Amino acid sequence: ASLEAISARESEVQAFLQVTPELALEAADRVDAARAAGDVLPPLAGVPVAVKDNMNLQGTRTTCASRMLESYESPYTATCVQRMLDAGCVPVGKTNMDEFAFGSSTDTSAFHPTNNPWDATRVPGGSSGGSAAAVAAGEVPISLGSDTGGSIRQPAALCGVVGMKPTYGAVSRYGVVAFGSSLDQVGPFGRTVEDVALAMDALVSGGRDRCDSTSQEVEPVFARALSGSVKGCRVGIIPSFMEADGLTSEVRRGVESAARALEEAGAELVDVELPHLDAAISAYYVIGPAEAFSNLARFDGIRYGYQEPDCRNLAEQSARSRAHGFGAEAKRRQMLGAYLLSSGIYDKYYYAAQKARTLITADYAAAYEKVDVIIMPASPMVAFEHGAISDPTQMYLSDMYTISINIAGNGGITVPVGLGESSGLPVAAQLVAPAFKDERLITFG
Ligand code: GLN
Repeated sequence: ASLEAISARESEVQAFLQVTPELALEAADRVDAARAAGDVLPPLAGVPVAVKDNMNLQGTRTTCASRMLESYESPYTATCVQRMLDAGCVPVGKTNMDEFAFGSSTDTSAFHPTNNPWDATRVPGGSSGGSAAAVAAGEVPISLGSDTGGSIRQPAALCGVVGMKPTYGAVSRYGVVAFGSSLDQVGPFGRTVEDVALAMDALVSGGRDRCDSTSQEVEPVFARALSGSVKGCRVGIIPSFMEADGLTSEVRRGVESAARALEEAGAELVDVELPHLDAAISAYYVIGPAEAFSNLARFDGIRYGYQEPDCRNLAEQSARSRAHGFGAEAKRRQMLGAYLLSSGIYDKYYYAAQKARTLITADYAAAYEKVDVIIMPASPMVAFEHGAISDPTQMYLSDMYTISINIAGNGGITVPVGLGESSGLPVAAQLVAPAFKDERLITFG
């Protein structure tokens, strides 16, 4: 059914970089055989899953939507993908993304853009735009994305699906191509909070992953959290966030209606202030590019990926391979990172960004003394048209509501709240919980 939905919708949506019918049918046959033998089936037996193309899955290429890795064959399967397979999922393909996860539109993919299933002239958001669009188009019920500054929560908002970034360290990143190692986190997309809860249980089952030193033991309590109650709980709302420049009135009203729904369900709304949050984007665009520059140094035209032919020496081979292999945004991030880490500059920006990070983390910790979760927008606006935002720094503002959560390391979930009254497009709210209290995102979601 999933492969049929993909053939029906893909020419319009273009969510996938690679569809894997052989892998899917093999896995589906294994489920059928287990069922015929009367075996106890795993919890997600036969559920189709799509994974972002920065995650290794043996038998597929892992391209990160970059010419640099166009023909790179996955040498092994990432832990997060393996856990979905162990839970019985059927892998149907690899989804489109912004090149190396740099972006908020999926338009920086070196191969093709992805179209928003609600309106093909618009972007699905990014960088995990293919994973969000595949779920929104009904091509798969569950997909995986990665979120460094909002790349699960912002595309979920623009596509009208649920997307969750768990606490940093909750899900293993072994086998996921690194962008910002202190920020990256894997998480699921689904049509409902329930589907996301089931995927989360699969992702954390099996305990901490010894192959990722930041991975932590998390109990699979997510499905159980669906029946939790919000009665008597406190929900924080940040007044300055709700009045921010750039927040459209239809998104603001959508978030307010979600807050009222929580109130009607018995929660109490409490104002909280996080005084250093306005430094989050600046800190992110220092820490993110610095880490990206370090991580992407491995693509040197020798060890991995694209290798320019006919070079006279190693230096030329590296320079020409990188010049050809990386697109404009990937080059911009690496040049920025190289500059920020150079001597003299490093002390001025990198240390300042790390100090801002400590203050923002402390702000969240202080807020959670007063409230159980915080509600805020996920994206300041609904899905925008392809090419509508051409200034990169304007594009960086798409993540004004998601970035501080990666900086502080806690978890967040995007939940659709309806269609905007002026655009008719999906509007979402974001819930944010204290670190390693991600099950609250499910209960409140
Ligand atoms: N849009 C943000 C960026 O461009 C976040 C990307 C992400 O989370 N991978 O860096």
